[in-house]
Amino acid sequence: MNRREFLEIVAAAAVLPTFARQGANANEWGAPVLDLHFHFRPQPAANLAHLDGAGITKANLLTRGGVLDQVKALQAAAPGRFTWFTSYDVTRPDAEQVLTQAVKSGAQGFGEMKFHVAADGPELRRMYALAADLQVPILIHIQEVDHSPNEGTWSAGFAKSFAAVLKEYPKTTFIGHADAFWANISADYHNEAAYPTGPVKRGGATDRWLGDYPNLYGDMSAVSGNNAMARDPAFAADFLKRHQDKLLFGSDCSCRDGHGAGYNNPAAPQMAGKCVARETLTVLKRSTVPVIFQKIVWGNVHRLLRIPVS
Ligand SMILES: [Zn+2]
Ligand SMILES: [Zn+2]
Repeated sequence: MNRREFLEIVAAAAVLPTFARQGANANEWGAPVLDLHFHFRPQPAANLAHLDGAGITKANLLTRGGVLDQVKALQAAAPGRFTWFTSYDVTRPDAEQVLTQAVKSGAQGFGEMKFHVAADGPELRRMYALAADLQVPILIHIQEVDHSPNEGTWSAGFAKSFAAVLKEYPKTTFIGHADAFWANISADYHNEAAYPTGPVKRGGATDRWLGDYPNLYGDMSAVSGNNAMARDPAFAADFLKRHQDKLLFGSDCSCRDGHGAGYNNPAAPQMAGKCVARETLTVLKRSTVPVIFQKIVWGNVHRLLRIPVS
């Protein structure tokens, strides 16, 4: 996309009423869609290219570091289409100070928090406490199996330790995401694979905790969320019904155009060249009824972030 095309998009976004654009986008999926898990792209037009290409109305930008001006510029260029979460190295002593300032500047949550620390370790614990103080949700990447050699673990120990965390921080809103969060919907999972396949064994930790703890939500993004819903259709239909108020659609898709261009995850060759947003919206749509689909792709996140549904 060249500069002229980008300026045309910005101009169109500024002129058209928000609801009109949402109405147009609603047609493709039968409901407007908010992508909770969209990594901010430095070039403004690249963000809109993914949303528009995938038929998505709004996205929650995930950022790390000093990009406040760029986020504000994008929000101004496309009014009503972008909310914003931010992250910062949780091992640094100034993490609380930096994240508090970001919330004062308009960040609506912490995320994604993706660090080589324990899920119940001191670094994340102070973030859980801060998220409760500031009344913002915290989105956590949980992964124990490498995608590439020596990648390391992220928020390790989830299956063993997280029930205690959920109990200890009842005022913190946790949003779980990534491989180990979703693989643990099955009771027979023991870190054998990043994306386990086949029938789900009932009673997995993630499934139980979504039911038991009002402060736990599930981010359905990435191959992990897609795989969890695609591996066992009968389980998926029941899971979506039981947790219909706790699940949030997200893509975590890095494709360029909302149609799969350039998407490549070495751990999931079957997804190469596909758009994760489109794949997951398709699985969700065929796995549940329209009223539950609408909650997962739109209603729940608006309630959670206290965004008026216009
Ligand atoms: Zn992640
Ligand atoms: Zn995509």
